Amino acid sequence: MNATTSNNAWSDRSQAALWHPCTQMKQLVATPPLPIARGEGPWLIDYAGRRYLDAISSWWVNLFGHAEPRINAAIVDQLGRIEHVMLAGCTHAPVVELSERLARLTGLGHAFYGSDGASAIEIALKMSFHYWRNSGRPAKTGFVSLQNAYHGETIGALSVTDVALFKATYAPLLRPSHQVMSPDWRRAAAGESAEAYALRAAANLDGYLAIHADTTAAVIVEPLVQGAAGMAMYHPVYLTKARESCDRYGVHLIADEIAVGFGRTGTLFACEQSAPSSFGRAGGVEAAVPNVAAIADFICLSKGITGGYLPLSAVLTTDRVYAAFYHDDTARGFLHSHSYTGNPLACRAALAVLDIFEQDHVIEANRARAERFTALLAELRGHPRVRHFRQAGMIWAFDVADAPPGFGRNFQRQALAKGLFIRPIGNTVYFMPPYVIDAPEMRLMANVTLDILQTL
Ligand SMILES: *Cc1c(COP(=O)(O)O)cnc(C)c1O
Repeated sequence: MNATTSNNAWSDRSQAALWHPCTQMKQLVATPPLPIARGEGPWLIDYAGRRYLDAISSWWVNLFGHAEPRINAAIVDQLGRIEHVMLAGCTHAPVVELSERLARLTGLGHAFYGSDGASAIEIALKMSFHYWRNSGRPAKTGFVSLQNAYHGETIGALSVTDVALFKATYAPLLRPSHQVMSPDWRRAAAGESAEAYALRAAANLDGYLAIHADTTAAVIVEPLVQGAAGMAMYHPVYLTKARESCDRYGVHLIADEIAVGFGRTGTLFACEQSAPSSFGRAGGVEAAVPNVAAIADFICLSKGITGGYLPLSAVLTTDRVYAAFYHDDTARGFLHSHSYTGNPLACRAALAVLDIFEQDHVIEANRARAERFTALLAELRGHPRVRHFRQAGMIWAFDVADAPPGFGRNFQRQALAKGLFIRPIGNTVYFMPPYVIDAPEMRLMANVTLDILQTL
């Protein structure tokens, strides 16, 4: 069997044997799944040896490329010790060390682990509600999220998500939640700055909480970038103000950093850029400043936490929240569990990721990398069909005017033929590459995208 047959064979067998995520399976006939035999840095390699640049970090999870030697070594070393042990009644060094390090980096602690982003959201929502119940405020059961928010697709997470395509069908299954104005600067009035618009959106949230705080447990936000909404970006002052409102009215603030955590927006965590002590400083703060706690009562982490290697999520919170559960009464405790909570292999991958951030001065190196790529995108940015060009750290996005029907899938198919793996969201094209891209990969992304825009 030659390699191309092998590609086709895997694709056919895949369509017959499994149900691909976020996919109308019938459309796979025209856009078959790409069979990947192996990976190497920012490259995906198919069974025929063709290479594709992973411009979206395998759905936003990969940080340091595929087959990163230090992460590989950490997992292999852990495999020889203990692959998994239950965390109810047991503990182990990787999960303890990871929890301690995440606490130092965020200023929040008492890490609770899940396996995926959506499970972290479920944990944070349940913890917030349960905190208020344990504190004699059982009427605080409501949640507030932003318009176009995305927090995952299990029933609880979907309840606070606001993407009609994912949500509308399941509406009868979901708990009602309230959506407030999104600070997405694309919606600003003519002549209104991103900051002024963020302040207007923050006033909208404040107005809602002023009336509904007694029945509201928490506000949940994606800090600085609403990813699934099409990389909608907003000014950091929004979170500073949202924190003030949450303090004023006694409501929790949950930071969903599942997509933006671990350096994506130019700081280790996006919330750091909104902390009063760092606010206004160009380029955000250095990784080690634990400013997350100045903004959030809960932080949800996943995706990049293991560098894109293994499923792991974590929720960290305040001592105050933790203390409200600490009691002789079992039922006041947080009796939530997942079988793979705190998996040692995943925790070792996460520890290796944090080591790499330190060893390679990743936050600093990315600043230079981002400037370089932004400069390379100058021609694209000036293209007559490009609208709302935007960038935050290692995320770039723009909207395409006059996008024909099927734009996203056709763009994806044409890019693939030119060696670029990319998946637009609606008419938004975005780059979210691993933190190891160099000049040749940057040129490929810029040139292929410009080429396709001329014809599609
Ligand atoms: C991806 C994502 C989730 C859900 O994570 P899964 O691992 O896919 O369940 C939640 N929130 C945000 C902001 C995300 O980007």
